[in-house]
Amino acid sequence: MPVVSSLSHRRVDLVPSVPGTVLAVSPGSLAMELGIEPGDRVLGVNGKPLVDALEFQFQAQSERVVIDVDREGSILRYDLELEGDEFWGVTFEDPTFDGVRVCENACPFCFIKQIPKGMRRSLYVMDDDFRYSMLYGSFVTLTNLSEEDWQRIEEQHISPMHVSVHATNPGLRVELVGNPKAGKIMDDLGRLERAGIDFHCQLVLVPGVNDGAEMDRSLRDLSTFGERLKSIAGVPVGLSKHGQERQSKQVRLSRTCMRRLPGVNPEAIRVRRYEPDEAARVIDQAEVWQERFRHERGDTFYHLGDEFYLMTGREVPDADHYAGFPQVEDGIGITRFFLEEMEQYLRRARPGVLRGTAGTIACGTLVAPTMAKAMERFNAYTGSHLTVRGIGNNYLGTEINVSGLLSGADLIEQLRDEPADGPVFVTRKMISDRTGTLLDDTRIEYVASQLGRAVHPAEKMGEVAAYLRRLRPVLQVA
Ligand code: SF4
Repeated sequence: MPVVSSLSHRRVDLVPSVPGTVLAVSPGSLAMELGIEPGDRVLGVNGKPLVDALEFQFQAQSERVVIDVDREGSILRYDLELEGDEFWGVTFEDPTFDGVRVCENACPFCFIKQIPKGMRRSLYVMDDDFRYSMLYGSFVTLTNLSEEDWQRIEEQHISPMHVSVHATNPGLRVELVGNPKAGKIMDDLGRLERAGIDFHCQLVLVPGVNDGAEMDRSLRDLSTFGERLKSIAGVPVGLSKHGQERQSKQVRLSRTCMRRLPGVNPEAIRVRRYEPDEAARVIDQAEVWQERFRHERGDTFYHLGDEFYLMTGREVPDADHYAGFPQVEDGIGITRFFLEEMEQYLRRARPGVLRGTAGTIACGTLVAPTMAKAMERFNAYTGSHLTVRGIGNNYLGTEINVSGLLSGADLIEQLRDEPADGPVFVTRKMISDRTGTLLDDTRIEYVASQLGRAVHPAEKMGEVAAYLRRLRPVLQVA
């Protein structure tokens, strides 16, 4: 349950029990030179307590820095004169010492309200924390920022930010975010722009709600921002079987969303999934904007989530279309990114280099046909024997068909009877950075023990190939 932090007096969750604990120190860094070690606890800089790693980075760049560190109960003080721009090289166990800020919204499509019990704890955290937006690219709505937060963003130049816009029409955004404060998004983005903060925007598209004329309006409004606006992405709304059931009962289950916020009608938005013909219309509409942006800004700028292309059977766009893949961390263009990386590997590799190796690529059902086609080419060139298994998502509902949301239970159930021909490769996106577990709180090692095969997370075919080469002596295929 969210708790109130003693440091920030805000709704937060996952407050670390020992805030400020050092997880790692980079070689060649100032911290290593000083002898700061993993397990030490940074208490404060220049006499002030710290709320997060960003504050540490900011405060520890002054010309005179006094750092207090707790090492197993002894306080060490480092009193330094610096030149500025120091590489401190400190990674903290939890980057936010006062916990993760929780959202104040009630989005009708909130995925957290669509997941069953028994999944990993961190999945139930309704985070809307601008610090994670800068550090990890999490999307935030900006609705829970206080004036103090804004001033901190401006003063410490916390950039870039990733903003869930959904719609620029104030009334529609209020309904989509479920918060009366959501209507001033253009003012909020304007404030980021004036402060010199870079930002990426995202529209979670709901069929018949914020696509069509509303998508045109949002793109028209967003196009008024200058070079601080770095990219816009449009992704289709996700709806799990649990979400459908809850919606059919008109129930909003999270504590935040049980609140009836004044000025918001919680039944105003009906969420459903895209049909292929609707997805095709979104692509056609987006292409008009992409052409305009290429002309005005020099690149595609408005990118659609891969699901739009995959569900219509259209080819995902070429790498040039994505112009450096600005939102690949959010999965935008990840299919083309993967295919491009595979081609790069094949250009470097000798023909037949993986002869005698075998394995299974386990992925979501949506991308499985594309993956199977790619593996035909990969096997033909390298001599490997990799097969692709599209894993149905029985845990959340088969309509959730992306690779990153597969559970350990589904992997075990659906790969159990497959002949054990080498390791199973899965995307690293299935595994939480924070807990190292899959959605249902199982570990990769457990899945491997149940399958009697190695299970290896990999993101690129270069990594798959390196792993197979290490195993090759024991994986000869008859
Ligand atoms: S209610 Fe909205 S902002 Fe809050 S966690 Fe859910 S989707 Fe995110």
